[in-house]
Amino acid sequence: MYRAPLEELRFVLEELLGTGQLAAYPAFADYNDEVGASILQEAARFAQTVLDPLNRPGDEEGAHWTPDGVSTPKGFKEAYAKFVSDGWQQLGTDPRFGGQRVPAALNCAVQELWGASNLSFELCPMLTHGAVHALELCGSEAQQKLFLPKMASGEWTGTMVLTEPQAGSDLGQVRTRAVPEGDHYRLFGQKIFITWGEHDYTDNIIHMVLGRIEGAPAGVKGISLFIVPKVLVNPDGSLGGRNEVRCMSIEHKLGIHASPTCVLQFGQERGATAYLVGEPNRGLEYMFIMMNTARLGVGVQSYAVGDRAFQHAAEYARTRLQGKPAGGERLPIIHHPDVRRMLLTMKSCTEASRAVAFYAGQQLDLAAYHPDAAARAAAQARADLLIPIVKAWNTETANEVAAIGVQVHGGMGFIEETGAAQYVRDVRITTIYEGTTGIQANDLIGRKIGRDRGAALHALIADMRRELEALEPRGDMPGETRDAALQAVSLLESASRSLVGSVAAAPERALAVSVPFLKLCGLVTGGWLLAKSAAIAAAGRGAAGKDFYQSKIRTARFYAKHVLPQAIGLAKVVEEGAASVLEAEPERV
Ligand SMILES: Cc1cc2nc3c(=O)[nH]c(=O)nc-3n(C[C@H](O)[C@H](O)[C@H](O)COP(=O)(O)OP(=O)(O)OC[C@H]3O[C@@H](n4cnc5c(N)ncnc54)[C@H](O)[C@@H]3O)c2cc1C
Repeated sequence: MYRAPLEELRFVLEELLGTGQLAAYPAFADYNDEVGASILQEAARFAQTVLDPLNRPGDEEGAHWTPDGVSTPKGFKEAYAKFVSDGWQQLGTDPRFGGQRVPAALNCAVQELWGASNLSFELCPMLTHGAVHALELCGSEAQQKLFLPKMASGEWTGTMVLTEPQAGSDLGQVRTRAVPEGDHYRLFGQKIFITWGEHDYTDNIIHMVLGRIEGAPAGVKGISLFIVPKVLVNPDGSLGGRNEVRCMSIEHKLGIHASPTCVLQFGQERGATAYLVGEPNRGLEYMFIMMNTARLGVGVQSYAVGDRAFQHAAEYARTRLQGKPAGGERLPIIHHPDVRRMLLTMKSCTEASRAVAFYAGQQLDLAAYHPDAAARAAAQARADLLIPIVKAWNTETANEVAAIGVQVHGGMGFIEETGAAQYVRDVRITTIYEGTTGIQANDLIGRKIGRDRGAALHALIADMRRELEALEPRGDMPGETRDAALQAVSLLESASRSLVGSVAAAPERALAVSVPFLKLCGLVTGGWLLAKSAAIAAAGRGAAGKDFYQSKIRTARFYAKHVLPQAIGLAKVVEEGAASVLEAEPERV
């Protein structure tokens, strides 16, 4: 059974990040720590009692396709109806469209609860959220009026429709064709891998589709964004006839079986009716607005599954009896130091990933709402830097965490009945969709570090160093936790100098080590936030109990001693590893 880590979430939100201070900004005037805590309590109840019981059966049954549409596994439709009637879809949406604005870090915490209890389920609200966000920022007033209230409430769902067989990471190859017709367009093309592209939850689905207006320039500069409703919407908001959008099939896949991954055909005869969002040829730019929110969301859902895998493994380790000390009774495997090492690796990496994700979320809020323009710009630069790190480092780490969960179970982990394998299968997609790890690393070193020559990264490094140096070893927080974090920051600093140098002078060299560099960034940022957490826990001024604070200190120390030393290897790879990749010619790998 899933147990929402409410005490940990409260600690990160209130004690580590001081989320309640956002109430000083008019946008969050109604927010305070009590509001946050009660939202989390209710979300935890929903996750534990509604979503968690459907996770395993949903995996076993999967979604069903027929030529008439897709039906979801038993219980999902009812769970979604309750999700909507309880108002969960509105959380985090602009109040102008019936939503409730909350700090992004709190939104991350709520998403964690959905993702940990049922990743397949979570994907649909998450994508709707992204579509709503894109329309809030780029849609016309008429489009917002027609589509947003029903999408924001969850009465209709939204999708993100980019991928085509020849256009995966390389979206410049999108071929879906848009032909102008009066005040709208006719769309023709096939899209693949569309999450929740068809389902039986709602009367309508609003697809946000990338296509190319006839005569548009080739490549990424000729792509536009369109709204394509599954069912046409009359000017008064009522539903009209069926649009030309068909789900041709759904994929049979490794995990997230309850989430339908659809092949969608747009336009069989006259073409699907489509409405241009914003200006022609700026579609990819608009889609990035959705992608940034979605990338943070994927970073959250990945460690959420990792936390679920940890809980499962810890429970198993407390009950499975194997081995006995000389002359003693047979003991639960958690008594074996190596099993504890595995569990602590899972726990500490999950806590580090959570802290990095919430911190990135908070930067988005500061970028949007801080009263000072310079502070807004600095926060935006930091959020932009951190998003690919959260997306890629968190997801790669969560894959390792879930795999360790299987190892803790021994052979039983490999058998489906225990449920440990589902986490490995489900979390596997997170390093792939919303841009693979390789694409995130390209984004980090090309767009984020290349453009400002490392300025945002160096500002982050300087802040980490300053804060760590100011941490006094006190109480139970050993100085070695802080020292290890500081040493890792120094390794990141020298590796980033070397990388920033090659981004300009020899981009191929930088690309050859971009993923190790991204991992180094995530690892070190996590180390900084865990060391800070340990110092806060050692002061013990918050609302948590002594056991919780002690555990926080131990986990941070474990991370410093067992996980952070990977920084030495990663920094070495970044500084010395490029040539060994580049000398392997493509045809000789
Ligand atoms: C379950 C599932 C759900 C999905 N949901 C959606 C959805 O809702 N909407 C949607 O539009 N798409 C969706 N996708 C598609 C997903 O976003 C793509 O699969 C992903 O972007 C990768 O594209 P690709 O599969 O074509 O792989 P490719 O682009 O062919 O990549 C293959 C490998 O090459 C590497 N690679 C490619 N280009 C580069 C480069 N320039 N530099 C370095 N490495 C590179 C990649 O990192 C990867 O390791 C989904 C996919 C799956 C499997």
